[in-house]
Amino acid sequence: MKEYIDRAESALLHVYNRYQVVFDHGNGVRMYDTDGKEYLDFCAGIAVNALGYGDAELEKELIEALSDQVRKVCHTSNYYYNLPAIEASEKLTKASGLDRVFFTNSGAEAVEGLIKTARKYAFLKDGSTDHEIIAMEHSFHGRTMGALSVTGNPHYREAFEPMIGNIKFAKMNDIESVKALVNDKTCAILLETVQGEGGIYPAEESFLKELRSICDEKDILLMFDEIQCGMGRSGYLFAWQRFGIRPDVMATAKALGCGIPVGAFLMTQKVADASLVAGDHGTTYGGNPLACRAVSTVLDLFEKRDLLSHVREVGAYLEKKLDELAIANKNIVERRGVGLMQGLEFSVPVGDILKKCLDNGLILINAGPNIIRFVPPLVITEKDVDDMISILEASLS
Ligand SMILES: *Cc1c(COP(=O)(O)O)cnc(C)c1O
Repeated sequence: MKEYIDRAESALLHVYNRYQVVFDHGNGVRMYDTDGKEYLDFCAGIAVNALGYGDAELEKELIEALSDQVRKVCHTSNYYYNLPAIEASEKLTKASGLDRVFFTNSGAEAVEGLIKTARKYAFLKDGSTDHEIIAMEHSFHGRTMGALSVTGNPHYREAFEPMIGNIKFAKMNDIESVKALVNDKTCAILLETVQGEGGIYPAEESFLKELRSICDEKDILLMFDEIQCGMGRSGYLFAWQRFGIRPDVMATAKALGCGIPVGAFLMTQKVADASLVAGDHGTTYGGNPLACRAVSTVLDLFEKRDLLSHVREVGAYLEKKLDELAIANKNIVERRGVGLMQGLEFSVPVGDILKKCLDNGLILINAGPNIIRFVPPLVITEKDVDDMISILEASLS
């Protein structure tokens, strides 16, 4: 692997301090590096590979569908219709209860779609261009300039100023901090239903409820970023469905294509009727037949295997095991999370623990310097949770 890593470091732009591993392939919920070493995967390519890898029965159906699509056609452009996009949009609107979908290539692009939708919606109401968006501190929405502008981590933004204007930051789960920022110029409130990169902070039901009623009262768009917490990770297809508090506009990506790069933003008919029209937005690749065949097949497989109930069961087991670990280890401050999106906050930085885990054959990542993040493939079993816990315990000691 050393030789591969040297080659990578001489050609790739160095914007990641990568773990010193070159992955070759996966099987089930395990990954293998180019030296043949096996790893239990509790990262899933950052909450992407929901169905596991290669030989898993579920993944096999996805591979067959994608192979079929590659043989037919990968790309047509949005000047024409294609059947996979039609099917994927029908399934996604049905599953979300939202009415209209626009496919993108990534999460950040889906967030750009939210921002443009909010601005256009407000522009059509009063013709002015000084509307404000309220986002949350510690949020993460992506690395493009618009998505970065609503990301509540000054460190990511600093060198790239100026951001797009009129963005304000409130505190997650602090409704007063939101109310203090709402005014006649507010066009949207944007948040992750469960904050991911910022440290695994779930939005509370009461907070979402109050946001919904502020937005209803003032005709402000409520926009959820479900890119990481969506697609089944919470035990519901979208994390807001736990509470039945529906957004006006929503972004999804990560597990949407289970490894095929695809995202989407969705909205209600009411918003669609009063925002983006032909000529306002577009993409070359977004919604192409290959990506949409992935989305369509992934949604079928979730349903076919009742993956959401599986996540609720194994998620509860993971919670219990992490809680036990938290009680036994004095360096663990708390466990937070929902379903198969969990975080363990430590009183110390976790970088060395993660490296030790990797040496011991367990893939885990952080969410901030002190928090270990658990976002495994959704198909993991209780046995996999037990295996993970024992490697983590050994690595901690
Ligand atoms: C990963 C992520 C994004 C950005 O998605 P990309 O595909 O990396 O552009 C946006 N929002 C959230 C909540 C994410 O977790």
